[in-house]
Parts: sequence; C-alpha cells; structure tokens
Amino acid sequence: MHISVLFNYTESVIPPRCRKPRTVTRNDGKVDVSIPVLNGDQAPVAIRATGSFRGRDQAFSYELRWWEGQLWSPISIDYAFEPRGRTTGQDNWEWPELPEILDLRQGGRNLCHTYDFQGTYGSNPREDVEADIHAFAKRHIVIDGSPHRAVAEPRYQVLTFGLSGNHGGTAVMVANCFNINLKAESYFGLQELEAALSYATQVAEKRGDTKSLPMRYSGPTFDVVLPEAVTIRNPLALRVHSKICEFGTAPEQALAGYKIATTIVETEEGALALYDGQDVRLVRGAAVFGAPGKQEFAVMVRQPVRRLLCSCCGGVTRGRQWNNRDDGYGLCVLCIDFCRRNETPERFQSLYGVRGVHFDVPVA
Ligand SMILES: [Zn+2]
Repeated sequence: MHISVLFNYTESVIPPRCRKPRTVTRNDGKVDVSIPVLNGDQAPVAIRATGSFRGRDQAFSYELRWWEGQLWSPISIDYAFEPRGRTTGQDNWEWPELPEILDLRQGGRNLCHTYDFQGTYGSNPREDVEADIHAFAKRHIVIDGSPHRAVAEPRYQVLTFGLSGNHGGTAVMVANCFNINLKAESYFGLQELEAALSYATQVAEKRGDTKSLPMRYSGPTFDVVLPEAVTIRNPLALRVHSKICEFGTAPEQALAGYKIATTIVETEEGALALYDGQDVRLVRGAAVFGAPGKQEFAVMVRQPVRRLLCSCCGGVTRGRQWNNRDDGYGLCVLCIDFCRRNETPERFQSLYGVRGVHFDVPVA
C-alpha cells in the first residue's frame, strides 16, 4: 500500500540583497511511503491480553501479532497495556486506516493526532522530516485489512513505593519499557510471572511491607501463544553459577578456558556463596587439618576473549590466554594449519590450547 505524505520543512535561505541566511518554512514537501499489507498467516497471533480497566468496571481483550521480530497491536494502548482512546475520555482506541494522501501540515510544523505523528517547531531540514516520516511508516502495517502498529514487549516489573514498613509498599506491575532507575533484576519476562511474584515477596519481606503480602499481580493477563515473541528474561535466570569440580579435574577446566586465579580454604557452601554469579570453577583440593568441614579449593576463572598477538606471525587475533603461551600471545586463524603440520594432536594442544576456546573463537 502506497501513501503520499505532505509535510512542512525548513530551508536556510539568503534572500536577495541580504548577507545572512535565515530559516524559511516551506509547505510543498511530499514523500511516498509504502505500508506492508499482510494476511493473518504471515503475522500470527503472539500474545492474547485480557483484563479490565482500572478506572471503570469494563473488560477488554486484544491480540498482539508477531511479524519480523516485532509485536503489532490493532489498538492504541497505554504504558500499562490497557486500551487508550486517541481522544481524551473516548473509546476510539482502534487505529484508523491510513488515507491515500496524509497531510501532516499544521501551521508551521508537522502534526497529526489521528495518526500519532508529532513534529517539532524550529529547524526541520527536508531530509530530517523525510527520515522521520519513513520511521513513522515503519511502525505501521495492515493485517487482514486492519491497521496495526508496532508496540513494545510487555514485561513485569517489581516496584517499591515509599519508605518501607508499609509506608508505601511493594508491587508487581506491567511496563512497556525499562526504567534505568530500576535494577535489571526487577524486570521479568511474560513467562516469568511466578518468579516475579516470589522475587517481589522477598523484597516485601525485607522491607517489612506486610500489607503487600500475599503478593498479587493486578493488570492485564497475558496469554503467550508464540513463545519466541517473548525475548525479555530476568537476568537472575540467565546468571551463571559457580560450580564445584572434583579433585584432579584442573587440566580439564583449563582446556575449557579456565585458569587458576587463587586458592581458598572454605566449606562447600561458603565457597559457592563467595563466587555466586561468577563463571568460576572450584576444583577440590586437600582437606585441611584443624579446620573441620573446610577444604582447599582452586579457584579457576574463565578467561575472557581478548586481543592477542599471534605467536607465529605476530598478527593481531582474538582468543583466550593459554597457560603454555606467553602472556598476550595466541594463535591466529591463518597460522593454525602451518603450526599443526609437524605436531601430534596432543602436542599441538599442549602448545596452543583448544580450537574454539583459546584460538579461532567464534564471534559472539
Ligand atoms: Zn599468525
């Protein structure tokens, strides 16, 4: 579907008999954009939302669709995923169809409430306005004849209010963006509601917000039909854990890219707690005399992929430090075959480490 958009723009002009340029508004801007027209099979239903309005006793439901890695909504929704009329106090939340010719010109600026285009006053060179209009068009598609717009993925957030101890409280709510004032751990994906509630319960218990317990979520219910459309995960769920490994496995860990950083004397639980959330392998060592329950652990930290110089040609490469190479040196991809020629696989490994771990590492 092609649409012509009419717009204002500004130009810097030096009028006749003048020396200094000034900004002049022109109103003959026109750009053609195309809006994808799809059928329901191309953009399947990803999330079904149902709920009731906060401000009145009325239920609502709508479906978000999935196309090109983006969620699309048939209605205007607010930050809490509740339908919101485009005009204050009215129920006109369904997006209107785009006309063949869309005129954004409002006085000296570009503005259109019906189709939600907000321009600014001041200097707006033609190229800038055209880029804005193309970006605006990218947020529109038509599915089975009804206009849809790109929306952000719903996510749960754990919020606290007030000074704790039931002054304010703790709550689980839905949001459409990340607030940088909140910790990343406060956000949960649509399939992590249980985890969000238990995290919020912990927070409320710590703060003494007893009136917020038992923790409940009040907001629209999201039924995930297409799990791939849910991309947000709580970082706690993705967190790596430190791990205890048996005595004598240090060479094995080294081949996996770990390197001994230090040794500690601790109980099993104590050692795990010490390195919780870090990519660390704790290799059992000897039991320690005079410290019951404690034993020695070799703390092996996963080496970062970093810039190394090739030990063969001197070129720059990326890899992990191998304990049999000088610090800062590794093998570059071009030299692998050359260096392997006259070596047994065992000796090659002992010299250079493991392919994919220490050299020739995949780009993340
Ligand atoms: Zn090389």
